[in-house]
Amino acid sequence: MGSQVFGNTIGLKPSELKKLEKLYRRKIPPTSIVTHELAKEISQISAEINRQVGILINRKGEIDYVIVGTFNRIEIPELKGYRDHIARLKGLRLIHTHLINQQNKNKTSGLDQDDLLDLALLRLDLIGALEVKPDGEPEKIYIAHILPDPEFFKGTLLDQEEKFFYFLKPCYVWELKENFLDLIKNLEDELDRIKPLKEIDENKDRALLIFVKELKDMYLEEKMEELEELARTAGVSVVGKIVQKRISPDPKYVIGKGKLIEVMILAMRNRANLLIFDRELTPSQIRALTELTDLRVIDRTQLILDIFAQRASSREGKIQVEIAQLKYALPRLRAKDDAFSRLTGGIGGRGPGETKLEIDRRRIKDKIAKLERELNKISQERELRRKRRKKLNFKVVSLIGYTNAGKTTLLNTLAKTEYLAEDKLFATLDPITKLIKTKKEKLFLLTDTVGFIRDLPEDLKKAFKATLEELYSADILLHIIDISHPDFENHIKVVEQILEEMNLLHIPKILVFNKIDLLENKENFSPLWLKNLISKYNAIPISAKDGTNLDLLIEAIENWLTILEREKLEDSSVFSEEENLPIVPQEHKFF
Ligand code: GDP
Ligand code: MG
Repeated sequence: MGSQVFGNTIGLKPSELKKLEKLYRRKIPPTSIVTHELAKEISQISAEINRQVGILINRKGEIDYVIVGTFNRIEIPELKGYRDHIARLKGLRLIHTHLINQQNKNKTSGLDQDDLLDLALLRLDLIGALEVKPDGEPEKIYIAHILPDPEFFKGTLLDQEEKFFYFLKPCYVWELKENFLDLIKNLEDELDRIKPLKEIDENKDRALLIFVKELKDMYLEEKMEELEELARTAGVSVVGKIVQKRISPDPKYVIGKGKLIEVMILAMRNRANLLIFDRELTPSQIRALTELTDLRVIDRTQLILDIFAQRASSREGKIQVEIAQLKYALPRLRAKDDAFSRLTGGIGGRGPGETKLEIDRRRIKDKIAKLERELNKISQERELRRKRRKKLNFKVVSLIGYTNAGKTTLLNTLAKTEYLAEDKLFATLDPITKLIKTKKEKLFLLTDTVGFIRDLPEDLKKAFKATLEELYSADILLHIIDISHPDFENHIKVVEQILEEMNLLHIPKILVFNKIDLLENKENFSPLWLKNLISKYNAIPISAKDGTNLDLLIEAIENWLTILEREKLEDSSVFSEEENLPIVPQEHKFF
């Protein structure tokens, strides 16, 4: 290796630097964690310069890095060219000094949180903090390594203080008797052995979901479930979930240091390569987290965009998704020379001096404009198709509802087809239409739509609403509700709100409580509760899966169709009060 001393070297005398550089020539037996001679040497230099000194030792016992810190802290430089598989140790261990003086003598010494964060983030073989007295004499060394598995060492154990790390009993360096190579071999064998329970599908991303619960946050469980389902829909394996309770999120990393440690250890144990946050992250948070963890980091919006992108199959759907993605990326584009670009930009500053960032931004804007024009054209074509369909004179019944409510399942059951009814959110992005014929020989078109979802960011909402354009030509809306979902009343509100925003409240609507087959097994379920809800919402309870009460649903649709036909005959463009009378059959079987 080289002889460059890293870190806080400013102000060191040439003789001190020389001593530090000389450390690179030391080599220790590969079986020792560290030798007494080496410990003594770094202790002395460290006391002399009154700064922490650290060395990174490789598995051959050579010293790859010599680092100088401040009195309290040492910062490890970027390590290039080492093993960086998430489930592998780095092949380097850090031994560094902790200076003790009169003030912090009584403070609990040993490894601090920053040390443990380094250990976890860098997946060091181990970390050692060597206490140094003011006279340069080494005191005890505190050593810890990552616990591959909380069960590791169980039974044999001295002080197993934490579930993420194993702490060796503090001792003098000359007392250390561990064989380093054996220790590492055990650790690595264990890491291999604890292969995650679920089969590893190499093509799938493996994600840790991260939730930040602020005091005012309610519905944490529902949010967790929803994000997990979104992840599953996007084709990601969820290998762990982490909740951080905080008064307010950390501005830089969103979560605190302690949680970051947990994230890294869980990522290592479960071979995660992706962190998904259940909140919108700022561009700088994404950058900071990516740099720190070396894992891919995305937020909920990106996850949803990804699902949209996978699911869009029509030209229109694809364009809408692309627009949404570009709009999401635009404010997140930031080059290192941002400050510079601000200087050169503006009046008179454009032209040859334009930075790459500005060019990129302009390109994206041009692309968005082009896509929007294309979309416009398609939308006109669609309008034509819609008119043609109108001429056919079929009434259009549109399925709407929160995502995963069972819309596609219902369409399939009714149409007796098996089109895309999979247990994934957003199984339909592009509207699907089926012609349905009732027993009374009434014909209507039933169209499926993409599901609604709460907290959609504005740009996404636009793309999303555009996919719901079909609804403007609907004659009846079937609002499907997953009654077995604990948060269903909120789902109803979300849907209603979107309808209001889209000016669709005037279209006749039938509320449908789906999945009643799941209620039986629920705790606290009572038929009376359901009965009250049914009358409160004037809804029809069905099971799209096993077909319960579908005849009632069809009957309700037929009733509306009759009303609409009558209206047309009477040429009444005005709704009379009476038409809003309950048309839902009052007798229904719950099961
Ligand atoms: P969409 O997002 O509203 O189109 O929902 P889907 O039709 O894709 O259904 C979502 C999930 O709910 C699927 O796993 C369906 O099998 C399931 N599902 C739909 N309807 C019912 C039902 O009546 N009972 C039960 N138990 N599951 C259902
Ligand atoms: Mg669907």
